Amino acid sequence: MARRQHIVLFPFLAQGHIIPFLALAKLITRRYPGRFTVTLVSTPLNVRSLRQSLPPDSGVLLREIPFRSADHGLPPDTENTDSVPFQDLIRIFQASTTLQPQFERLIAEEITKEDGRPPLCIIVDFFLGWTVQIAEKLGVFHAIFNTCGAFGTAVYFSMWMNLPHSHTTSEDDFWVPGFPESFRLHLSQLSPTLRYADGADPWSSVIRQQIALCLSSKAILCNTVEGLEPMGMALLRKIAGLCVWSIGPVHPLETTNSAGRGARRVPGVDPETCLRWLDAHPPRSVLYVSFGSQNSISAAQMMALAAGLEATRRPFIWVIRPPFGFDVKAEFKDEWLPKGFEDRTGKSGRGLLVRNWSPQLEILSHPSVGGFLSHCGWNSVLESLSRGVPLIGWPMAAEQFYNSKMMEEELGVCVELARGVEQRVSSVEVERVVGLVMDGEKGENMRRKAASTAQTIRTAIEEEDDKGTSAAALDDFLATVLKTAPPANEADDL
Ligand code: UDP
Repeated sequence: MARRQHIVLFPFLAQGHIIPFLALAKLITRRYPGRFTVTLVSTPLNVRSLRQSLPPDSGVLLREIPFRSADHGLPPDTENTDSVPFQDLIRIFQASTTLQPQFERLIAEEITKEDGRPPLCIIVDFFLGWTVQIAEKLGVFHAIFNTCGAFGTAVYFSMWMNLPHSHTTSEDDFWVPGFPESFRLHLSQLSPTLRYADGADPWSSVIRQQIALCLSSKAILCNTVEGLEPMGMALLRKIAGLCVWSIGPVHPLETTNSAGRGARRVPGVDPETCLRWLDAHPPRSVLYVSFGSQNSISAAQMMALAAGLEATRRPFIWVIRPPFGFDVKAEFKDEWLPKGFEDRTGKSGRGLLVRNWSPQLEILSHPSVGGFLSHCGWNSVLESLSRGVPLIGWPMAAEQFYNSKMMEEELGVCVELARGVEQRVSSVEVERVVGLVMDGEKGENMRRKAASTAQTIRTAIEEEDDKGTSAAALDDFLATVLKTAPPANEADDL
């Protein structure tokens, strides 16, 4: 019998990255039983939480590499972007580029010694481009697993590789190098880090270097669906100049306790409470509001959003955390919401405020949910669209602006309400956009398109006879990797 080949997965230190990497690890072990040993690598605290959440029979192995947050000027026990304030985020990125000796030791000494040969392949996040050099040194196949969409990543790469953007003024819209001339962006669609980047600042140093290194990887696996983003896939292939396989959506499709799906803290609410609350509402009536694992809107925006939600008189679940600029780990204060808001909306059964963290996948899977006001992080996008739920976009950072644009202009499943933390948002506008998406002809149309998108996604992951594009792409990628393995392993076909 052929010996199992070893695949090592290494996500960036952020919840939105660890969750899909864990899902990919589970997908490979489930789809190819007994064929591969799959190891997920992270820092000790992330591994500890992952260990609590992984069922003993998952087949996924966990390995930790040493990390001391104090060595990087980070608060104690900080190994994940979701527990650091925005101004310290850069430290997580910088710290992640210093893990080279630890990672190399794990691969070259520990795993290679235990297995008697180097791993078949290492699959890493694109913020960890430095791993390319280790893979080259050890003769191991290197691939990127891009946890973002193809279109968003193509714009993001182009924007970072063509600095500066400081010449762009607020009146202009501008062209993105590598894109068709008709494709325009506006200054407000650049995250602050990108807007002020000049190539020499700390963000530019980390991100440009990692992207450049990634471009000498062997392949990109993209957490998307070919039929969902045909233009995005074509642009990403052109801009990256690499083989790109779309294998998504890679997310836990089975509804599990979200608090246990990744390296995650205590849940803000018991999933059962949310689901019971949703049971009491008519189909497609509830708006779910969340800004992902690391973003918050400003205090003024929070007031306006609350007032707008109350004015719609529609049911909502809102994941609340301290506004932008406040300690992310602090208790949520009543003064951040209009006086009596939680009492009024809670007592009338119209609003459920969830502190900190919700069971998002369970919520989006419930038939009572009719819309998602989201920061358009790619996992949230996939989770919403795979359940046919249209979105209201409020992108906050990174490629979220381009995800929102693509969903509104290409797919017709999103209406953008606001951008970032600086925009003045009125409660009247909140009320108008929520009404537009939850009711009326436009909302109905969006729902139809979202349902057809959900079908495209379901078809792509079909694993039986008539294999979907994503299932076939993962087979094809692994077959390609196996062809590169040393001669002794040539019999190891999929
Ligand atoms: N998530 C969740 N509950 C929350 C917030 C986030 O389960 O209260 C999960 C969500 O389902 C998704 C991930 O965290 O899988 C967030 O990833 P995304 O790419 O949407 O945004 P990011 O947090 O990376 O900005």
